[in-house]
Amino acid sequence: MQVFNTKSGNKEELITIEPGTVKAYICGPTVYDYCHVGHARTYINFDVFRRYLEALGYSFVHVQNFTDIDDKITQRASAQGELPRKVADFFIGEYFKDMDKLNVKRATVYTRVSEFVPKIAEATARLLEEGFAYRSGRAIYFDVQKVGGFGELVSEIEDMVTDKIETGIKKGPFDFTLWMEGKNGEETWDTPMGRGRPGWHIQCVVMSTDSLGPEFDVHWGGIDLIYPHHECEAAISKALFGKPFVRYWIHNNFVLMNGDKMSKSSGQPVYIRNVLKRFSGSVLRTFLLSRHYREKIEYSDDGLESAEKSLQMLKSGAKIAMRNRGTRQMSAYVKDYADMFFGSLDDDLSTGEALAIAERLAWEMTKERNKDFTGAWRIFEAVEGILGIRL
Ligand SMILES: [Zn+2]
Repeated sequence: MQVFNTKSGNKEELITIEPGTVKAYICGPTVYDYCHVGHARTYINFDVFRRYLEALGYSFVHVQNFTDIDDKITQRASAQGELPRKVADFFIGEYFKDMDKLNVKRATVYTRVSEFVPKIAEATARLLEEGFAYRSGRAIYFDVQKVGGFGELVSEIEDMVTDKIETGIKKGPFDFTLWMEGKNGEETWDTPMGRGRPGWHIQCVVMSTDSLGPEFDVHWGGIDLIYPHHECEAAISKALFGKPFVRYWIHNNFVLMNGDKMSKSSGQPVYIRNVLKRFSGSVLRTFLLSRHYREKIEYSDDGLESAEKSLQMLKSGAKIAMRNRGTRQMSAYVKDYADMFFGSLDDDLSTGEALAIAERLAWEMTKERNKDFTGAWRIFEAVEGILGIRL
């Protein structure tokens, strides 16, 4: 299939390192709150990507982390008078409840930062020893100057300098924290470098490569993770392994709410569980997949209601099509639809197009009596199996 690679800025044919296997990592949630519709979009699109490749016959290794060490978790824990670990455990449980309702397949491997601290500390110590990192103030920083090619995901990297160089602390504006001494109330770990906790970017490098090896096929995340998170991950990985790290960087766009990015930090997120009080998981899936993953999508009640109508139409079509489920034949008329449907998915996962094609076929099936719809069941089966929309 063709995928848009953030690294090249182009659509490219997906060619995996190991034929027949896709090794992929997706940045998981920071578990200090319930997941909102923006999270749902990321995990649903990745889920369709996985289901499509599995349908093509690939075996798909899906590794996903939980960021369970973070300031926001510590804050929530101290506000609730609980241990950070307890807060993280609770929201990991809630994450699974939400994703199960959205029919998102479980990852092959889930990792938790808290279980990787010794390995992260070991990698940090090695970077320090090999001169890729330096100690300054209360932290250890990655020295971006020491690896070539910083800015492989962001073309105008100079424009990304938003924070001023903390005089006497960081050597360069792009240097970032690998390790820090803990503040009061934070969880810290004893290591040969002293008591402290890991920075964000190195966590994902250590967790992804631990399961997938130093080079793997796909790294997925929301578009807001391109810089600094993924750019810094790439730099760390190059320093640690001297290899290119990831072949295809894939990023999905935001869910907007009244024109602004939906996130916990930028206003009122709409939690998945609140949407599911009024609409089914399949309606939310249909809504989120109605737009291409690289485009923005505006969240609204109207959008969900129209997705509900689309879903009704798909169900009507499926009901008729399933009467001759299992038929091997496919009429020429249906084959045109099948080519368009699968062709859309093959073209950088154009789920919006694929859905529109399936809906159009469903509509025809409910209206037209004289056409030959033999074999249409296969398209509706793919709506269920690949798009993950229960009909
Ligand atoms: Zn990450």
